[in-house]
Amino acid sequence: NLDQGPEGLETPIQVVLRVRPMSTAELRRGEQSALRCSGTRTLHVRPPGGAQDVVFRFSAVLDASRTQEDVFQACGVRRLGELALRGFSCTVFTFGQTGSGKTYTLTGPRPQGEGVPVPPSLAGIMQRTFTWLLEQVQHLGTPTTLHASYLEIYNEKVRDLLSSGSPRPLPVRWNKTRGFYVEQLRVVEFGSLGALMELLQMGLSRRRSSAHTLNQTSSRSHALLTLYINHHTQMSHMDPRVPPAGGKLCFVDLAGSEKVAATGSRGELMLEANSINRSLLALGHCISLLLDPHRKQSHIPFRDSKLTKLLADSLGGRGVTLMVACVSPSVQCLPETLSTLRYASRAQ
Ligand code: ADP
Ligand code: MG
Repeated sequence: NLDQGPEGLETPIQVVLRVRPMSTAELRRGEQSALRCSGTRTLHVRPPGGAQDVVFRFSAVLDASRTQEDVFQACGVRRLGELALRGFSCTVFTFGQTGSGKTYTLTGPRPQGEGVPVPPSLAGIMQRTFTWLLEQVQHLGTPTTLHASYLEIYNEKVRDLLSSGSPRPLPVRWNKTRGFYVEQLRVVEFGSLGALMELLQMGLSRRRSSAHTLNQTSSRSHALLTLYINHHTQMSHMDPRVPPAGGKLCFVDLAGSEKVAATGSRGELMLEANSINRSLLALGHCISLLLDPHRKQSHIPFRDSKLTKLLADSLGGRGVTLMVACVSPSVQCLPETLSTLRYASRAQ
């Protein structure tokens, strides 16, 4: 229902859970599944040793058999897109331990080699939303321009993924009209799906990765791709002081949520893991304060991390947030899976 603002949603944050299939490595090691989905909203966790199942409920629970298209549908991303077209700030983020399927869910699998295209059926939420959004914009009555930015937050430093210049960290600033923003961030206008896909590929290949004992290619940074939608109304044409009306759609691929102890990290990686956790803890803290029904206009500590600063407008104010929590079914991952499930449950 387009006349309904985010006020009309059940909760400001929708949480969807996705269980990825067992990997070939997990299958080869003979690992058992600890998870069972029942119906469309319930997950049963079977702890080893025959203890009672632990039950979690989410807006939607997607088991390993669900396709990328199923996930796109179940997440209601089009609804978020419609709100962004109407001027709201909307965010989709994936959360979970390294290897749980966050990047796969947002952007699909890695290409098998250079020049080997990924089949469209495996495209992630981001490509599906881009296609949908460009179609919508073509049919709008008002002239609309689209821009994109792509950045990563690594060790609490912001790097532009669309700029070929020196990888100097960019400062995050705040002012009254813009709220929090990244100074000198490259914001690129695009007019076609092909041009946007090129920006996505450029950013993905620049995304910083570091070798890691859990997953060699795991990305240890948070990556934020933002689409800015500007409707050029008659007012904004006649008066340059009137900004074009429009919203934002942001996709966030969070760094792995695993604990330092689980990765055997030391030194540099330890510092990395700490700032990753700092952002994730700050995010969890802001979300739980926002959801507290007894909260009396209290202060939300968005300033505690770069991530929460940059998500402030979609978490608070005029925004809607969708969290896709990703987990592995394997019993070997159960401790991390439980911490992901608890974090995700607290966010709804
Ligand atoms: P993360 O970003 O959370 O570290 P990835 O998205 O890289 O995890 O997923 C880890 C591996 O599992 C990748 O090889 C990916 O292609 C595969 N994978 C993840 N989710 C699925 C899925 N739903 N179906 C098939 N393969 C998947
Ligand atoms: Mg990833």
